[in-house]
Amino acid sequence: MKGLMQDTPLTLSMIFRRAEQLFPDKRIVTAEVGGAKTRTTYAQWCERTRRLGGVLDALGISADGRVATFGWNTARHLELYYAAPCSGRVLHTLNIRLFPDQLTYIANHAEDEVVFVDKSLLPLYQKVSGTFTTVRHTVVIDDGAPGELPDGWLDYERLLEEAGTPVDLEVVDEGSAAAMCYTSGTTGHPKGVVYSHRSTVLHALGTMLADSVGISEADVILPVVPMFHANAWGIGQAGVFAGSDFVLPGPNMTPAALVDLMEQERVTLAAGVPTIWMGVLPLLEGRDLSSLTRVVAGGSAVPKALSEGFRRAIGLPIQQAWGMTETSPVASTGRLRSSVTGLSDDELADIRATQGMPMALVDARVVEPDTTNVLPWDGTTSGELQVRGPWIASAYYDDPRSPESFTADGWLKTGDVATIRPDGYIHLVDRTKDLVKSGGEWISSVDVENELMAHPKVKEAAVIGVAHPKWVERPLACVVVRDGETLTKDEVLEFLAPRVARWWLPDDVVFIEEVPKTSVGKFSKKTLRDRFAGHVLPDVTS
Ligand code: ADP
Repeated sequence: MKGLMQDTPLTLSMIFRRAEQLFPDKRIVTAEVGGAKTRTTYAQWCERTRRLGGVLDALGISADGRVATFGWNTARHLELYYAAPCSGRVLHTLNIRLFPDQLTYIANHAEDEVVFVDKSLLPLYQKVSGTFTTVRHTVVIDDGAPGELPDGWLDYERLLEEAGTPVDLEVVDEGSAAAMCYTSGTTGHPKGVVYSHRSTVLHALGTMLADSVGISEADVILPVVPMFHANAWGIGQAGVFAGSDFVLPGPNMTPAALVDLMEQERVTLAAGVPTIWMGVLPLLEGRDLSSLTRVVAGGSAVPKALSEGFRRAIGLPIQQAWGMTETSPVASTGRLRSSVTGLSDDELADIRATQGMPMALVDARVVEPDTTNVLPWDGTTSGELQVRGPWIASAYYDDPRSPESFTADGWLKTGDVATIRPDGYIHLVDRTKDLVKSGGEWISSVDVENELMAHPKVKEAAVIGVAHPKWVERPLACVVVRDGETLTKDEVLEFLAPRVARWWLPDDVVFIEEVPKTSVGKFSKKTLRDRFAGHVLPDVTS
């Protein structure tokens, strides 16, 4: 017997229409170049988005043509987030921080037809634009940056005025592509992930659930996570769906600017990578951040000391989320479940340092590497984390490498190594390629780093494996000391000794100026491994 319910397609058009109808007065604030703020309402944003749909028609963009963006978090970018997919096109957010040859690859691979570029990013964009072979139009969005419009390029506001006939933004096929993002591709070319309307709507609903991030109408959201990376964690969709206010930081992502925005605009929910919050933490004192109810971090592990630092400063620990571009990207979120009672602050902090529980509709498992053996959820047995669900990728776009990342029965192989506790909390041990492989056993670089970063004089720390003749690899701690402080190797090792297993203790400690970061602000262990490839460990020389 079949169910007899309406088979309504799940599309971004529904989200857009609802926002237009229910939330015309909700606000979208954008911090522009120079710091001035532009304030718009949903009503204005919806009207402009409909006209932008008309602009795409006038430019002759194909029915499912790729509409690329090269921009900061702004209200205009949010217009593109809807005008492209709701007019049947596919939004392709170019990650402005990718290397030039990666940008060339992804723009050509996606066959972008038009690129919308923020004026302040023109110097960066013009370094690569000549290599884009399929782009027919470049539209410049004036964000107040100085400079002229390059010859032959179009002006966003002018197009909206002259060619922007408001259009119906109705998509009927929920399976059609809405947006695409490429992974940052630490090895090989970036890989394209294509989100459907359906996957996007379900992911948005997922992040609106009270037991995940709980995005709601009452929220004033500051997405620090860029709209050019991993879909801004779906905030652009969930926030509009819920009718939240938005505070968009534009190009100035400095910790000082972010704290000002949070305080002045009474932000309730802010989301960004841990590196951002590390910069913000020392600035919290004396600020009125009483409006904040969630500070969310993901993209890399949230050190316990960072989350506890926030708890002490503003009474709010950081809420951790885990995911990948391939998972839309949120797949697990940290919340203390009701069974977690009677624990000390320190034990609670340990739970918050996990990557949380799989979200509703996401299945997770750990599998013994290079086998199909599913491992128990016992909190200690580690293996590759695999996930599946309606907002998890099933393949990469036009890419022969797809089979390497998906199992025969449809699970995504994340390349992350994890344990799962019996109550479902996922603890990410490491990325497969960052594990230190010592004498046939694994050392979690993440766990050792977390302990290192709890040292009051340590600003940042990364642990990498370096070659060892007997053990294959041994850990090397790369430590950045806080300004004005001094620290010795012995002090570092003494601090770590009671905190990690004896054989996890780094064989050496080097002091560096800064931990190198990837395009999206994560620790770049690869850069460190290259830099210290020839490092000779003390016991090897003795
Ligand atoms: P890439 O960096 O490959 O482009 P993503 O930005 O999608 O890809 O990053 C996904 C990866 O980031 C995950 O596979 C995982 O290794 C890491 N990651 C994401 N969230 C967390 C988290 N909360 N804790 C630890 N690692 C995380």
